[in-house]
Amino acid sequence: DRIISANLMMEDQEAELSLRPRYLAEYIGQENVKENLKIYIEAAKLRKEALDHVLLYGPPGLGKTTLSNIIANELGVNIRVTSGPAIDRPGDLAAILTNLQEGDVLFIDEIHRLNRQVEEVLYPAMEDFALDIIIGKGPSARSVRLDLPPFTLIGATTRAGLLSSPLRDRFGVLCRLEFYTKDELSYIVSRASEILEVEIIGEAATEIAKRSRGTPRIANRLLKRVRDFAQVKGDGIITLDISKTALKHIQVDDLGLDHIDHKILNTIIKNFAGGPVGLDTIAATIGEEGQTIDDVYEPYLLQIGFLQRTPRGRVVTPLAYQHLGIAIPEN
Ligand code: ADP
Repeated sequence: DRIISANLMMEDQEAELSLRPRYLAEYIGQENVKENLKIYIEAAKLRKEALDHVLLYGPPGLGKTTLSNIIANELGVNIRVTSGPAIDRPGDLAAILTNLQEGDVLFIDEIHRLNRQVEEVLYPAMEDFALDIIIGKGPSARSVRLDLPPFTLIGATTRAGLLSSPLRDRFGVLCRLEFYTKDELSYIVSRASEILEVEIIGEAATEIAKRSRGTPRIANRLLKRVRDFAQVKGDGIITLDISKTALKHIQVDDLGLDHIDHKILNTIIKNFAGGPVGLDTIAATIGEEGQTIDDVYEPYLLQIGFLQRTPRGRVVTPLAYQHLGIAIPEN
């Protein structure tokens, strides 16, 4: 597994439990989203109603799961966690829905991966808090409506564009999570160090932040790797020097790019004269999955202005040539 992959790895799981902020006040960054959610949560509490359904979207590792837990926490309700691919049949979803209590949060991660039949159960559940069940078969079959307790669905997805429009339209609150700034990440790294009880110099926290691709999950992971180096090669304190040495060893460059990023950029430059070239072609050439490039690599390369999307494919920008130390072609 790649160290800079924003996808959840086994090792992250236990650590995430303790590093995960539990209240809005501890959730760093995403000011706009936080401000709005605060109001909606308070209003729902005042009216003693379930919060409107919320869709959280943005690249992996930006804090969608964390935010969902916080929302439930702030509302003072239970959260039930599941994911699109985990719900196979309509009956599975019906079982989950009928077990909810009034006001509960149902969190569905990767909601764009729900299958059609399951999705159709969700429509009346979201809109009318009702479950339509078919009883019997053939001509005598009839539909019975079952009431559900009012609940809040929180859907998370890396790509809102993949959601069907009837599903998307049923969310009252849409929140797009953005990449974090260097300062925010530096703060997240310092906070995580405190929780992990490891001393870190301010400059080192900034260095790790700079190389975390705007992503808290990556920041926490890099911190843990650097901590290993500090404990084995140093005296346990994370200094700027130790950070730089460690990050060099794990092949994460100044901007947080790893060798797959380099491969993507170099391939476009060397094999396709800098582009435009289609994502599938790039994926096939370097032997990675198109989906991984789409979800994990491309968003950050676009964000830092190394790649551009054009109708005819991806194009490498002069900034990327500079970073890689390759001369920019004349035309
Ligand atoms: P996603 O669901 O978007 O993939 P997660 O919610 O699992 O991302 O976040 C990954 C980790 O990053 C969390 O365990 C948490 O430690 C950290 N994290 C995410 N967002 C924040 C934040 N705003 N402030 C502090 N830590 C955060």
